Amino acid sequence: MPRLRPRFARRILVLNDHPVELALFQNMLAAMGYRRVTAASDAAAAVAAVARQPHDVVISDIATGIAGSASLLTELRGMGRVPPVIWTSGLGEELLQSHVRLALEAGSASVQALPMPVSAAVLQAAMETALESLAASQEAAPAPLQRRAMETALRRALQTGAGFSVVLQPQVDLRTGRVVAAEALSRWRHRTLGEVPPADFVAAAHRLGLDGRLFERVVDAAAGVLVPLHAEGLAVPVAVNASASTLCDPALPAMLERRMARAGLPARLIKIELTEDEPVGDWVVLSSALNLLRVRGFELAMDDFGAGIASMRLFSAMPFTELKIDREFIVHMHRDAASRAVVAAAIDMGRSLGRRVVAEGVEQERDLALLRELGCDAAQGYAIARPLAPRDFVDFCRAYSP
Ligand code: C2E
Ligand code: CA
Ligand code: CA
Repeated sequence: MPRLRPRFARRILVLNDHPVELALFQNMLAAMGYRRVTAASDAAAAVAAVARQPHDVVISDIATGIAGSASLLTELRGMGRVPPVIWTSGLGEELLQSHVRLALEAGSASVQALPMPVSAAVLQAAMETALESLAASQEAAPAPLQRRAMETALRRALQTGAGFSVVLQPQVDLRTGRVVAAEALSRWRHRTLGEVPPADFVAAAHRLGLDGRLFERVVDAAAGVLVPLHAEGLAVPVAVNASASTLCDPALPAMLERRMARAGLPARLIKIELTEDEPVGDWVVLSSALNLLRVRGFELAMDDFGAGIASMRLFSAMPFTELKIDREFIVHMHRDAASRAVVAAAIDMGRSLGRRVVAEGVEQERDLALLRELGCDAAQGYAIARPLAPRDFVDFCRAYSP
């Protein structure tokens, strides 16, 4: 068999629920020379295809729905890298643009939107853009090898703790300026790989099924900071990030209780921050896990409120004690009326339900003033403090505690 030239050996996924359009894309790609084209007529088939083997470019119609698009992006992200995405649609620019944002947020480095009908020339140009971006990102990170090396190193590091540390970012009360809580953020520095970004090693821990181990490490580090504070009478709860699958481990509540009891700390000093970085698999299991944690006295925060697809449903269905408004809205609220409206509505909703509302990613003094005006309870961000090493955090608490 003749060898395919590299660009034509790229594996392309086409998702379209309209059989004629699907065939049209297949024909155009075949005529351009692409020989490895997977056709899927619904999101489930597309998810199954990318789970079977990696694809280099995704061309997807948005008519299959935002939930289908999101599940495909989640699957791609779980595999380590979201490839270039080309959305197609006859449904109008606004919907296309919201899908563009979705794919960018999922981590794709190249996202294009093509209104239907798509001509061969337009598709060819879009494919060239996608493949250029793919080549650039593969040069920057020779993915599979580096990923495997990272996973091997991470497995070892999670056993021994080597290179792991935790930094703490304070949250202050917007009326009093006192520190009222903190978020624990993991850091991992490897001997040869250097500083690995949390997004990369957290995703890898999930792939390895070691997210629970990471969670335990962060809880222990948080307890290490809480013990001296508690001894000084400073009650500053520390939040630990966890995704739904981590929290659904039935052994987790007992593990948390054991660790807190061993450190001589009350449960209310640990807050669990649910990150919506994966869709909730089983709502009943998650709800019973969160309710159990609440009953045992742990606080529960919903992270990145407004950013995830199921934010509203999750917040109303689960027993959260706190809502954290996503950074994206905070960063843009001073010049974007829509972001400001979302922030104001989230604050009102949280307050009317008796939940604490925290704004995250507060970078400017003027944002602090506006949040205060809107009635937000607490803020976290560079305008207050960067994430701090444990010792510096303890000093910060001594200086700014009630
Ligand atoms: P996140 O939970 O949304 O955490 C907040 C991130 O925003 C942190 O990034 C923090 O350093 C950064 N940040 C804080 N204030 C500001 C600000 O004013 N402006 C801007 N631009 N950024 C700010 P980091 O530490 O890189 O963490 C990234 C993400 O990785 C976290 O996002 C969280 O989802 C995840 N992560 C970190 N540590 C852990 C962990 O131990 N477990 C899990 N499951 N996820 C973790
Ligand atoms: Ca968080
Ligand atoms: Ca967050």
